Amino acid sequence: MLYINGEWIKTEDKMDVFNPATGELIESVSTGGKEYAKQAIQDAKEAFKTWKKLTAKERGSYLAKAAEIMKSKADQLAETITKENGKPLPDAKGEVASGIEHLEWYAEEAKRVYGDTVPASSPDRQLLVIKQPIGVCGAITPWNFPLSMITRKIAPAIAAGCTVVLKPAPDTPLSAIHVFECFHEAGLPKGVINLVIGPAEEIGHELTSSSDVRKISFTGSTMVGKKLLKDSADTVKKVSMELGGHAPYIVFDDADLDLAVDGILASKFKNAGQTCISTNRIYVHENVADEFSEKLAAKVSKLSVGNGIEDNVDVGPVITQAAISKVKNHVEDAVKNNGKVLTGGKVHAKSEAGGNFFEPTVIANANESMLIASEETFGPVAPIFTFKDEEEIVEKANHPTYGLAAYCFTSNLGRSMRMMQELEFGIVGINDTSPGGVQAPFGGVKESGIGKEGGQYGIREYLEEKAVSIRLV
Ligand code: ADP
Repeated sequence: MLYINGEWIKTEDKMDVFNPATGELIESVSTGGKEYAKQAIQDAKEAFKTWKKLTAKERGSYLAKAAEIMKSKADQLAETITKENGKPLPDAKGEVASGIEHLEWYAEEAKRVYGDTVPASSPDRQLLVIKQPIGVCGAITPWNFPLSMITRKIAPAIAAGCTVVLKPAPDTPLSAIHVFECFHEAGLPKGVINLVIGPAEEIGHELTSSSDVRKISFTGSTMVGKKLLKDSADTVKKVSMELGGHAPYIVFDDADLDLAVDGILASKFKNAGQTCISTNRIYVHENVADEFSEKLAAKVSKLSVGNGIEDNVDVGPVITQAAISKVKNHVEDAVKNNGKVLTGGKVHAKSEAGGNFFEPTVIANANESMLIASEETFGPVAPIFTFKDEEEIVEKANHPTYGLAAYCFTSNLGRSMRMMQELEFGIVGINDTSPGGVQAPFGGVKESGIGKEGGQYGIREYLEEKAVSIRLV
Protein backbone atom coordinates (compact mmCIF):
# COMPACT_ATOMS: atom_id res chain seq x y z
CA MET A 1 0.00 0.00 0.00
CA LEU A 2 1.21 3.46 -0.85
CA TYR A 3 0.17 6.60 0.98
CA ILE A 4 0.21 9.75 -1.10
CA ASN A 5 -1.48 13.06 -0.34
CA GLY A 6 -3.46 11.54 2.51
CA GLU A 7 -4.85 8.64 0.43
CA TRP A 8 -4.08 4.95 0.63
CA ILE A 9 -3.32 3.64 -2.85
CA LYS A 10 -3.52 0.06 -4.07
CA THR A 11 -1.72 -0.80 -7.28
CA GLU A 12 -1.49 -3.77 -9.62
CA ASP A 13 2.21 -4.28 -8.88
CA LYS A 14 2.91 -6.29 -5.78
CA MET A 15 5.88 -7.16 -3.61
CA ASP A 16 5.98 -10.21 -1.33
CA VAL A 17 7.00 -9.85 2.28
CA PHE A 18 8.40 -12.95 3.98
CA ASN A 19 8.86 -13.98 7.59
CA PRO A 20 12.61 -14.61 8.08
CA ALA A 21 11.87 -17.04 10.92
CA THR A 22 9.70 -19.36 8.82
CA GLY A 23 10.23 -18.42 5.20
CA GLU A 24 6.46 -17.99 4.91
CA LEU A 25 4.76 -15.29 2.88
CA ILE A 26 3.23 -12.72 5.26
CA GLU A 27 1.60 -10.42 2.75
CA SER A 28 1.86 -9.03 -0.78
CA VAL A 29 1.90 -5.24 -0.71
CA SER A 30 1.17 -2.78 -3.49
CA THR A 31 4.17 -1.05 -4.98
CA GLY A 32 4.71 1.93 -7.24
CA GLY A 33 7.71 3.34 -9.06
CA LYS A 34 8.81 6.67 -10.40
CA GLU A 35 5.37 8.02 -11.37
CA TYR A 36 4.20 7.61 -7.79
CA ALA A 37 7.39 9.07 -6.40
CA LYS A 38 7.00 12.10 -8.72
CA GLN A 39 3.43 12.60 -7.61
CA ALA A 40 4.37 12.25 -3.95
CA ILE A 41 7.09 14.89 -4.35
CA GLN A 42 4.62 17.30 -5.93
CA ASP A 43 2.06 16.70 -3.18
CA ALA A 44 4.72 17.15 -0.50
CA LYS A 45 5.77 20.40 -2.20
CA GLU A 46 2.20 21.68 -2.16
CA ALA A 47 1.69 20.62 1.47
CA PHE A 48 4.91 22.39 2.49
CA LYS A 49 3.35 25.76 1.63
CA THR A 50 0.87 25.50 4.47
CA TRP A 51 2.58 23.05 6.85
CA LYS A 52 5.56 25.37 7.34
CA LYS A 53 3.21 28.17 8.37
CA LEU A 54 1.67 26.27 11.25
CA THR A 55 2.96 27.22 14.65
CA ALA A 56 5.46 24.84 16.22
CA LYS A 57 2.87 24.03 18.86
CA GLU A 58 0.35 23.03 16.21
CA ARG A 59 2.87 20.82 14.40
CA GLY A 60 3.95 19.33 17.70
CA SER A 61 0.38 18.47 18.61
CA TYR A 62 0.09 16.18 15.55
CA LEU A 63 3.24 14.39 16.64
CA ALA A 64 1.94 14.02 20.19
CA LYS A 65 -1.33 12.62 18.88
CA ALA A 66 0.47 10.14 16.61
CA ALA A 67 2.54 9.07 19.65
CA GLU A 68 -0.63 8.38 21.65
CA ILE A 69 -2.07 6.33 18.78
CA MET A 70 1.19 4.41 18.46
CA LYS A 71 1.05 3.65 22.19
CA SER A 72 -2.45 2.23 21.85
CA LYS A 73 -1.26 -0.06 19.03
CA ALA A 74 2.13 -0.92 20.50
CA ASP A 75 1.55 -4.68 20.77
CA GLN A 76 0.25 -5.00 17.23
CA LEU A 77 3.14 -2.93 15.89
CA ALA A 78 5.69 -5.02 17.77
CA GLU A 79 4.22 -8.22 16.34
CA THR A 80 4.50 -6.84 12.84
CA ILE A 81 8.15 -5.94 13.43
CA THR A 82 8.89 -9.42 14.73
CA LYS A 83 7.11 -11.06 11.80
CA GLU A 84 8.83 -9.18 9.03
CA ASN A 85 12.20 -8.46 10.65
CA GLY A 86 12.62 -11.48 12.95
CA LYS A 87 13.76 -9.81 16.18
CA PRO A 88 12.38 -11.25 19.43
CA LEU A 89 9.08 -9.70 20.52
CA PRO A 90 10.46 -7.95 23.64
CA ASP A 91 13.08 -6.24 21.45
CA ALA A 92 10.38 -5.28 18.95
CA LYS A 93 8.41 -3.75 21.83
CA GLY A 94 11.54 -1.82 22.76
CA GLU A 95 11.75 -0.55 19.21
CA VAL A 96 8.15 0.66 19.30
CA ALA A 97 8.86 2.41 22.60
CA SER A 98 11.85 4.12 21.00
CA GLY A 99 9.67 5.16 18.04
CA ILE A 100 7.15 6.70 20.41
CA GLU A 101 9.91 8.50 22.31
CA HIS A 102 11.08 10.15 19.10
CA LEU A 103 7.58 11.34 18.28
CA GLU A 104 7.20 12.73 21.80
CA TRP A 105 10.62 14.36 21.84
CA TYR A 106 10.10 16.19 18.55
CA ALA A 107 6.56 17.20 19.52
CA GLU A 108 8.37 19.34 22.12
CA GLU A 109 11.56 20.13 20.19
CA ALA A 110 9.51 21.87 17.49
CA LYS A 111 8.94 24.66 20.01
CA ARG A 112 12.64 25.16 20.66
CA VAL A 113 13.84 26.18 17.22
CA TYR A 114 15.33 29.47 18.31
CA GLY A 115 17.09 31.99 16.11
CA ASP A 116 19.79 34.48 17.09
CA THR A 117 20.37 38.18 17.20
CA VAL A 118 23.96 38.97 16.31
CA PRO A 119 25.85 42.22 17.11
CA ALA A 120 26.20 44.05 13.79
CA SER A 121 29.27 45.88 12.53
CA SER A 122 27.53 49.24 12.37
CA PRO A 123 25.10 50.93 14.75
CA ASP A 124 22.38 51.36 12.14
CA ARG A 125 22.07 47.66 11.44
CA GLN A 126 20.28 44.82 13.18
CA LEU A 127 21.46 41.32 12.31
CA LEU A 128 19.17 38.35 12.82
CA VAL A 129 19.51 34.65 12.13
CA ILE A 130 16.21 32.89 11.58
CA LYS A 131 15.81 29.15 11.17
CA GLN A 132 13.46 27.82 8.56
CA PRO A 133 12.40 24.36 7.37
CA ILE A 134 14.41 23.23 4.38
CA GLY A 135 11.48 21.96 2.29
CA VAL A 136 10.55 18.58 0.85
CA CYS A 137 12.72 15.77 2.24
CA GLY A 138 13.36 12.35 0.75
CA ALA A 139 13.85 9.66 3.40
CA ILE A 140 15.15 6.15 2.73
CA THR A 141 15.20 3.61 5.55
CA PRO A 142 16.58 0.10 6.19
CA TRP A 143 14.98 -3.10 7.49
CA ASN A 144 16.92 -3.61 10.74
CA PHE A 145 14.80 -1.12 12.71
CA PRO A 146 11.81 -0.96 10.40
CA LEU A 147 9.76 1.33 12.65
CA SER A 148 12.14 3.46 14.70
CA MET A 149 14.34 4.40 11.73
CA ILE A 150 11.23 5.93 10.18
CA THR A 151 10.17 7.89 13.25
CA ARG A 152 13.73 9.13 13.69
CA LYS A 153 13.49 10.82 10.32
CA ILE A 154 9.84 11.80 10.03
CA ALA A 155 9.50 13.24 13.55
CA PRO A 156 12.26 15.88 13.37
CA ALA A 157 11.46 16.64 9.73
CA ILE A 158 7.80 17.49 10.26
CA ALA A 159 8.50 19.12 13.62
CA ALA A 160 10.82 21.51 11.76
CA GLY A 161 8.08 22.23 9.22
CA CYS A 162 9.36 20.06 6.37
CA THR A 163 7.30 17.57 4.41
CA VAL A 164 8.48 14.06 3.57
CA VAL A 165 8.47 11.34 0.91
CA LEU A 166 9.60 8.08 2.49
CA LYS A 167 10.84 4.91 0.84
CA PRO A 168 11.13 2.02 3.33
CA ALA A 169 13.17 -1.16 2.87
CA PRO A 170 11.57 -3.80 0.63
CA ASP A 171 11.97 -6.49 3.31
CA THR A 172 9.95 -4.59 5.93
CA PRO A 173 7.26 -2.36 4.41
CA LEU A 174 4.50 -3.46 6.82
CA SER A 175 5.92 -1.58 9.82
CA ALA A 176 6.15 1.52 7.61
CA ILE A 177 2.47 1.18 6.67
CA HIS A 178 1.59 0.98 10.39
CA VAL A 179 3.56 4.13 11.19
CA PHE A 180 1.72 5.97 8.45
CA GLU A 181 -1.62 4.66 9.75
CA CYS A 182 -0.83 6.27 13.12
CA PHE A 183 -0.20 9.65 11.47
CA HIS A 184 -3.29 9.24 9.27
CA GLU A 185 -5.42 8.59 12.35
CA ALA A 186 -3.83 11.58 14.05
CA GLY A 187 -5.32 13.69 11.24
CA LEU A 188 -2.00 14.92 9.83
CA PRO A 189 -2.80 17.24 6.90
CA LYS A 190 -2.58 15.58 3.50
CA GLY A 191 0.73 15.57 1.68
CA VAL A 192 2.85 16.22 4.80
CA ILE A 193 4.15 12.66 4.81
CA ASN A 194 4.00 10.28 1.86
CA LEU A 195 4.95 6.64 1.56
CA VAL A 196 6.23 5.13 -1.67
CA ILE A 197 7.00 1.41 -1.54
CA GLY A 198 8.67 0.06 -4.66
CA PRO A 199 11.82 -0.30 -6.74
CA ALA A 200 14.68 1.27 -4.79
CA GLU A 201 16.77 2.66 -7.63
CA GLU A 202 13.82 4.14 -9.46
CA ILE A 203 12.37 5.88 -6.41
CA GLY A 204 15.84 6.82 -5.19
CA HIS A 205 16.58 8.44 -8.54
CA GLU A 206 13.37 10.51 -8.44
CA LEU A 207 14.20 11.72 -4.95
CA THR A 208 17.84 12.58 -5.65
CA SER A 209 17.33 14.13 -9.08
CA SER A 210 14.31 16.31 -8.28
CA SER A 211 15.16 19.92 -7.58
CA ASP A 212 11.96 20.08 -5.51
CA VAL A 213 13.51 17.71 -2.96
CA ARG A 214 15.87 19.79 -0.83
CA LYS A 215 17.19 17.14 1.51
CA ILE A 216 17.93 13.42 1.54
CA SER A 217 18.08 11.50 4.78
CA PHE A 218 19.35 7.95 4.38
CA THR A 219 20.14 5.05 6.69
CA GLY A 220 21.71 1.99 5.12
CA SER A 221 24.89 0.66 3.60
CA THR A 222 27.90 2.84 2.85
CA MET A 223 27.80 1.68 -0.76
CA VAL A 224 24.24 2.93 -1.37
CA GLY A 225 24.90 6.03 0.74
CA LYS A 226 27.79 7.01 -1.51
CA LYS A 227 25.62 6.58 -4.59
CA LEU A 228 22.88 8.77 -3.11
CA LEU A 229 25.48 11.38 -2.14
CA LYS A 230 26.81 11.48 -5.69
CA ASP A 231 23.30 11.61 -7.15
CA SER A 232 22.33 14.44 -4.78
CA ALA A 233 25.27 16.55 -5.92
CA ASP A 234 23.65 17.67 -9.17
CA THR A 235 20.94 19.53 -7.30
CA VAL A 236 23.20 20.38 -4.31
CA LYS A 237 20.94 18.93 -1.65
CA LYS A 238 21.46 18.87 2.06
CA VAL A 239 22.12 15.27 3.13
CA SER A 240 22.18 13.15 6.27
CA MET A 241 23.74 9.72 5.93
CA GLU A 242 23.79 7.09 8.65
CA LEU A 243 25.93 4.37 7.09
CA GLY A 244 27.84 1.24 7.99
CA GLY A 245 30.05 0.74 11.00
CA HIS A 246 32.72 -1.59 12.31
CA ALA A 247 32.60 -1.15 16.06
CA PRO A 248 35.57 -2.08 18.23
CA TYR A 249 34.84 -3.32 21.75
CA ILE A 250 37.88 -2.87 23.96
CA VAL A 251 38.22 -4.70 27.25
CA PHE A 252 41.16 -3.61 29.44
CA ASP A 253 42.54 -5.83 32.18
CA ASP A 254 41.19 -3.40 34.80
CA ALA A 255 37.61 -3.81 33.53
CA ASP A 256 34.69 -5.46 35.29
CA LEU A 257 34.86 -8.62 33.17
CA ASP A 258 31.33 -9.81 33.90
CA LEU A 259 29.95 -6.45 32.85
CA ALA A 260 32.03 -6.60 29.68
CA VAL A 261 30.84 -10.14 28.89
CA ASP A 262 27.20 -9.21 29.41
CA GLY A 263 27.71 -6.17 27.24
CA ILE A 264 28.57 -8.41 24.30
CA LEU A 265 25.28 -10.26 24.67
CA ALA A 266 23.55 -6.95 24.03
CA SER A 267 25.91 -5.34 21.62
CA LYS A 268 26.64 -8.36 19.43
CA PHE A 269 23.66 -10.68 19.75
CA LYS A 270 20.67 -8.32 19.98
CA ASN A 271 18.93 -8.08 16.64
CA ALA A 272 21.11 -11.08 15.69
CA GLY A 273 24.03 -8.69 15.27
CA GLN A 274 22.23 -6.73 12.57
CA THR A 275 22.67 -3.24 13.95
CA CYS A 276 24.99 -0.62 12.52
CA ILE A 277 26.41 -0.06 16.01
CA SER A 278 26.84 -3.81 16.67
CA THR A 279 30.23 -4.87 17.95
CA ASN A 280 32.43 -6.23 15.18
CA ARG A 281 35.87 -6.55 16.77
CA ILE A 282 36.29 -7.53 20.40
CA TYR A 283 39.76 -6.57 21.65
CA VAL A 284 40.61 -8.09 25.03
CA HIS A 285 43.79 -7.40 26.98
CA GLU A 286 45.99 -10.51 26.85
CA ASN A 287 46.04 -10.78 30.66
CA VAL A 288 42.31 -11.47 30.77
CA ALA A 289 41.62 -12.84 27.28
CA ASP A 290 41.28 -16.50 28.29
CA GLU A 291 39.00 -15.78 31.21
CA PHE A 292 36.88 -13.39 29.12
CA SER A 293 36.63 -15.85 26.21
CA GLU A 294 35.60 -18.71 28.46
CA LYS A 295 32.93 -16.66 30.20
CA LEU A 296 31.61 -15.28 26.95
CA ALA A 297 31.46 -18.66 25.19
CA ALA A 298 29.64 -20.17 28.19
CA LYS A 299 26.98 -17.45 28.10
CA VAL A 300 26.63 -17.38 24.32
CA SER A 301 26.18 -21.15 24.15
CA LYS A 302 23.12 -20.73 26.38
CA LEU A 303 21.40 -18.16 24.16
CA SER A 304 18.18 -19.57 22.79
CA VAL A 305 17.67 -19.25 19.06
CA GLY A 306 14.25 -19.29 17.46
CA ASN A 307 11.20 -17.55 16.09
CA GLY A 308 11.02 -14.25 17.94
CA ILE A 309 7.26 -14.43 18.28
CA GLU A 310 7.70 -17.31 20.73
CA ASP A 311 8.56 -16.83 24.41
CA ASN A 312 12.11 -16.82 25.76
CA VAL A 313 13.95 -16.37 22.48
CA ASP A 314 17.22 -14.43 22.70
CA VAL A 315 18.36 -14.52 19.10
CA GLY A 316 16.05 -14.49 16.08
CA PRO A 317 16.84 -15.17 12.43
CA VAL A 318 18.93 -12.97 10.17
CA ILE A 319 16.97 -11.19 7.49
CA THR A 320 17.62 -13.29 4.37
CA GLN A 321 19.41 -16.33 3.00
CA ALA A 322 21.96 -13.95 1.47
CA ALA A 323 22.70 -12.70 4.99
CA ILE A 324 23.22 -16.31 6.13
CA SER A 325 25.70 -16.83 3.28
CA LYS A 326 27.70 -13.75 4.29
CA VAL A 327 27.85 -14.81 7.94
CA LYS A 328 28.85 -18.35 6.97
CA ASN A 329 31.54 -16.99 4.67
CA HIS A 330 32.98 -14.83 7.47
CA VAL A 331 33.11 -17.78 9.86
CA GLU A 332 34.70 -20.12 7.30
CA ASP A 333 37.25 -17.48 6.40
CA ALA A 334 38.07 -16.93 10.09
CA VAL A 335 38.60 -20.65 10.62
CA LYS A 336 40.83 -20.82 7.55
CA ASN A 337 42.91 -18.01 9.10
CA ASN A 338 43.50 -19.84 12.41
CA GLY A 339 40.36 -18.70 14.22
CA LYS A 340 39.17 -21.04 16.94
CA VAL A 341 35.41 -21.55 17.21
CA LEU A 342 34.53 -21.64 20.91
CA THR A 343 30.80 -22.05 20.37
CA GLY A 344 28.44 -22.06 17.38
CA GLY A 345 29.95 -21.70 13.93
CA LYS A 346 27.25 -23.20 11.73
CA VAL A 347 23.90 -22.54 10.15
CA HIS A 348 21.42 -23.43 12.90
CA ALA A 349 19.47 -26.68 12.57
CA LYS A 350 16.24 -24.67 12.91
CA SER A 351 16.87 -23.28 9.44
CA GLU A 352 15.84 -26.58 7.93
CA ALA A 353 12.20 -25.63 8.48
CA GLY A 354 12.65 -22.53 6.29
CA GLY A 355 14.05 -19.80 8.58
CA ASN A 356 17.37 -17.95 8.38
CA PHE A 357 19.00 -18.99 11.64
CA PHE A 358 22.71 -18.97 12.43
CA GLU A 359 24.21 -20.33 15.64
CA PRO A 360 25.41 -17.61 18.03
CA THR A 361 29.15 -17.88 17.53
CA VAL A 362 32.31 -16.93 19.41
CA ILE A 363 35.67 -17.12 17.63
CA ALA A 364 38.92 -16.80 19.57
CA ASN A 365 42.36 -16.13 18.10
CA ALA A 366 41.01 -13.58 15.63
CA ASN A 367 43.53 -11.63 13.57
CA GLU A 368 43.72 -8.78 11.09
CA SER A 369 43.88 -11.01 8.02
CA MET A 370 40.29 -12.22 8.51
CA LEU A 371 37.41 -10.72 6.54
CA ILE A 372 35.60 -10.28 9.83
CA ALA A 373 38.34 -7.85 10.92
CA SER A 374 37.45 -5.33 8.26
CA GLU A 375 33.99 -6.11 6.80
CA GLU A 376 30.67 -5.67 8.59
CA THR A 377 29.35 -9.19 9.37
CA PHE A 378 25.79 -8.16 10.29
CA GLY A 379 25.23 -11.48 12.03
CA PRO A 380 25.62 -13.20 15.42
CA VAL A 381 29.38 -13.80 15.32
CA ALA A 382 31.78 -12.45 17.97
CA PRO A 383 35.50 -12.53 17.08
CA ILE A 384 38.00 -12.03 19.92
CA PHE A 385 41.35 -10.35 19.26
CA THR A 386 43.95 -9.68 21.95
CA PHE A 387 46.15 -6.65 22.66
CA LYS A 388 48.93 -5.58 25.02
CA ASP A 389 48.76 -1.84 25.64
CA GLU A 390 46.62 1.26 25.35
CA GLU A 391 48.51 3.01 22.59
CA GLU A 392 48.51 -0.09 20.41
CA ILE A 393 44.79 -0.61 20.86
CA VAL A 394 43.80 2.93 19.97
CA GLU A 395 45.70 2.53 16.74
CA LYS A 396 44.00 -0.79 15.98
CA ALA A 397 40.52 0.25 17.05
CA ASN A 398 40.43 3.34 14.84
CA HIS A 399 39.22 2.02 11.52
CA PRO A 400 40.57 3.59 8.33
CA THR A 401 37.10 4.11 6.88
CA TYR A 402 34.38 3.38 9.45
CA GLY A 403 33.66 5.54 12.50
CA LEU A 404 30.20 4.93 13.89
CA ALA A 405 30.35 3.37 17.37
CA ALA A 406 33.09 2.15 19.74
CA TYR A 407 32.93 0.60 23.19
CA CYS A 408 35.51 0.54 25.93
CA PHE A 409 35.49 -1.27 29.27
CA THR A 410 37.83 -0.05 32.01
CA SER A 411 37.59 1.03 35.63
CA ASN A 412 40.38 3.60 35.25
CA LEU A 413 38.99 7.14 35.00
CA GLY A 414 42.01 8.62 33.27
CA ARG A 415 41.96 5.85 30.70
CA SER A 416 38.22 6.35 30.15
CA MET A 417 38.84 10.01 29.40
CA ARG A 418 41.75 9.27 27.07
CA MET A 419 39.73 6.68 25.16
CA MET A 420 36.80 9.06 24.90
CA GLN A 421 39.15 11.57 23.24
CA GLU A 422 41.18 9.21 21.08
CA LEU A 423 38.55 6.92 19.58
CA GLU A 424 37.59 8.31 16.17
CA PHE A 425 33.92 7.42 16.26
CA GLY A 426 30.64 9.35 16.38
CA ILE A 427 29.41 7.37 19.39
CA VAL A 428 31.53 6.04 22.26
CA GLY A 429 30.22 3.84 25.07
CA ILE A 430 32.41 3.63 28.19
CA ASN A 431 31.35 0.59 30.23
CA ASP A 432 28.10 1.00 28.34
CA THR A 433 26.65 -0.80 25.34
CA SER A 434 23.56 1.40 24.98
CA PRO A 435 25.17 4.74 24.28
CA GLY A 436 22.22 5.98 22.20
CA GLY A 437 18.92 7.44 23.27
CA VAL A 438 16.45 9.92 21.90
CA GLN A 439 18.27 12.92 23.40
CA ALA A 440 21.79 12.12 22.10
CA PRO A 441 23.22 12.78 18.63
CA PHE A 442 23.41 9.49 16.72
CA GLY A 443 25.68 9.36 13.69
CA GLY A 444 29.12 8.51 12.45
CA VAL A 445 32.34 10.05 11.17
CA LYS A 446 34.50 9.08 8.17
CA GLU A 447 32.55 6.82 5.75
CA SER A 448 30.05 5.96 8.48
CA GLY A 449 28.11 9.07 7.75
CA ILE A 450 27.26 12.73 7.79
CA GLY A 451 24.79 14.41 10.12
CA LYS A 452 23.04 13.36 13.31
CA GLU A 453 19.71 12.01 14.42
CA GLY A 454 18.27 12.56 17.89
CA GLY A 455 17.66 15.37 20.35
CA GLN A 456 18.26 19.02 19.53
CA TYR A 457 20.85 17.86 16.96
CA GLY A 458 18.38 15.87 14.86
CA ILE A 459 16.07 18.78 14.09
CA ARG A 460 18.95 20.98 12.88
CA GLU A 461 19.34 18.66 9.92
CA TYR A 462 15.96 19.82 8.63
CA LEU A 463 16.50 23.54 9.13
CA GLU A 464 18.33 26.25 7.25
CA GLU A 465 19.79 29.33 8.83
CA LYS A 466 18.92 32.56 7.11
CA ALA A 467 20.87 35.73 7.87
CA VAL A 468 18.74 38.87 7.85
CA SER A 469 20.31 42.28 8.00
CA ILE A 470 18.00 45.21 8.75
CA ARG A 471 19.19 48.73 8.03
CA LEU A 472 17.56 51.00 10.58
CA VAL A 473 16.50 53.82 8.26
P1 ADP B 1 21.09 -3.25 3.43
O1 ADP B 1 22.26 -3.88 2.77
O2 ADP B 1 21.17 -3.17 4.90
O3 ADP B 1 19.76 -3.71 2.93
P2 ADP B 1 20.93 -0.98 1.71
O4 ADP B 1 21.79 0.20 1.74
O5 ADP B 1 21.00 -1.87 0.53
O6 ADP B 1 21.21 -1.73 3.07
O7 ADP B 1 19.39 -0.57 1.88
C1 ADP B 1 18.93 0.47 2.72
C2 ADP B 1 17.80 1.18 2.01
O8 ADP B 1 18.29 1.74 0.80
C3 ADP B 1 16.62 0.29 1.62
O9 ADP B 1 15.42 1.02 1.73
C4 ADP B 1 16.93 0.00 0.16
O10 ADP B 1 15.78 -0.35 -0.60
C5 ADP B 1 17.47 1.34 -0.28
N1 ADP B 1 18.28 1.30 -1.51
C6 ADP B 1 19.08 0.31 -1.95
N2 ADP B 1 19.65 0.66 -3.14
C7 ADP B 1 19.19 1.91 -3.44
C8 ADP B 1 19.38 2.81 -4.53
N3 ADP B 1 20.19 2.52 -5.55
N4 ADP B 1 18.73 3.99 -4.49
C9 ADP B 1 17.92 4.31 -3.46
N5 ADP B 1 17.69 3.49 -2.42
C10 ADP B 1 18.31 2.31 -2.39
